[in-house]
Amino acid sequence: MRYPTPLAPAGSHVSSNDQHAIRAQYALDRRALVPRADPPTCANNAPATANLNLHWHVVYANETYDGGFLPDDQIAAQMAFLNSEWGKFAPLTFTLVNTTRTLNEDGFNYAREKVSDIRTGVVTALHTGGALDINVYSVSFELVPDLRGFSSFPWDFKNNTVDDGIFIKWNSLPGGSLKSNGGSLVHEVGHWLGLYHTWQDGCTSPNDEVDDTPAEDPQNAGRGLQTCPASFDSCPTMPGQDPIHNYMTYASDDCRTEFTKGQVARLLDQSTTYRSLKLACPTSASINGSSSSGSASAPASSGSSAPSTTGNQTQTTTGTPGTGGALSLSATQSWTMVAGMVALVCMSVGLV
Ligand SMILES: [Zn+2]
Repeated sequence: MRYPTPLAPAGSHVSSNDQHAIRAQYALDRRALVPRADPPTCANNAPATANLNLHWHVVYANETYDGGFLPDDQIAAQMAFLNSEWGKFAPLTFTLVNTTRTLNEDGFNYAREKVSDIRTGVVTALHTGGALDINVYSVSFELVPDLRGFSSFPWDFKNNTVDDGIFIKWNSLPGGSLKSNGGSLVHEVGHWLGLYHTWQDGCTSPNDEVDDTPAEDPQNAGRGLQTCPASFDSCPTMPGQDPIHNYMTYASDDCRTEFTKGQVARLLDQSTTYRSLKLACPTSASINGSSSSGSASAPASSGSSAPSTTGNQTQTTTGTPGTGGALSLSATQSWTMVAGMVALVCMSVGLV
């Protein structure tokens, strides 16, 4: 993970130079890392899907809600929202496989500022699983109140497996004191799977490297932070109105409701390349073609193994697999390749 710059006024963002380097490397990696295959054709037109295991690490300062001690029902509600939103657009499901609780006051308050401490006391101690396991650390960003989260990107994984994961503001969960609907984690998972902000690289091509998300000027991306604005065009020399309803922009919770087909194609391509994501037919459906496993392969995954402790007070509880449920998909997603790739840490400021 490339951690956000401490105390930067806005979230970390991939520079144009970094973006072009990442894009060039991806062109090589995409060919080299993973043999490509079309997704299997499943019986009864059932969509091929993949399930990703999620490990929730509650990092807390004390055993109160304000101290970060999240109740299980809020985590369950977040998983349900994550599945319901992503399930509308992508052939992916997410299963909470375990929840850990770790007393680490600095980790809770300063996950963005005390990076080396947090790496030792939180990430190295708690991270579990492989490329397809999502490690989520719920914390407070005490010194950056608007920050809702940040994430690693798929291409980070090959050189840094331990830092792979997502930090999320603890009270952004449904039912939390931030009065959010849980969209922040939906956004961060978009980064984790390979999406840039829709305003990446501003009003210049290839901006976010997705063809069906109109370019946005990052200076205007926060326009809708408090309300859902009427449509506007911050890049008048480029096609389209700003994608104010896209999950990968900055806008209010009620504003962000969608991902595009181009984004889904891109994240599947990115995650296939760097996370060995593989779509498979449901176990109940026979297939014509590839093997049926019912879930994504997860190389090097240790599943729901309990994290080790390193001086922190850590408890591990097993979550309820399938929390939130897997939604059936209305249509099989295309497996189109998208050239392009992307960035590193996201920080979501003001709503994300
Ligand atoms: Zn972001």
